[in-house]
Amino acid sequence: MESPRILHALRRLNDLQAKRPRGWVKGLTENERMLAIEHARMGIPSSILAHHELFVSRGKRSLAEVRHGVCTACLMKLPAAHPLPASPIGRIDVCDHCGVFLFWTEAEAVETKPPTGAVKAKRPKVTSQGKGKNHPSP
Ligand SMILES: [Zn+2]
Repeated sequence: MESPRILHALRRLNDLQAKRPRGWVKGLTENERMLAIEHARMGIPSSILAHHELFVSRGKRSLAEVRHGVCTACLMKLPAAHPLPASPIGRIDVCDHCGVFLFWTEAEAVETKPPTGAVKAKRPKVTSQGKGKNHPSP
């Protein structure tokens, strides 16, 4: 199963099951919304769906964006040891703190990369005087 597809379905499902529908969900009739929910659920493995339902039952979204290394659901910084995704929308990960599914936006993925072509300001070497020169005699 491709994770980008699962994430996409999960995002749709979160939008469809949101307490206060917004955006495209607003334009749907209740019947259409139910059908769309069924459709979205079909694209999600049952283990992920079970985890998702747990959040929905608490009135929360099961999916949150990672911004600047921070989970936008609990606003906690992910541990440095948390593996960064190889591709921005290529894997399904959960927050170490609140357990929400995480997704990285492309902007975030770019940010985590070292800047290429950045001009390195060459600092003149400061020769520290008195350091390593005059050893205080024991
Ligand atoms: Zn979190």
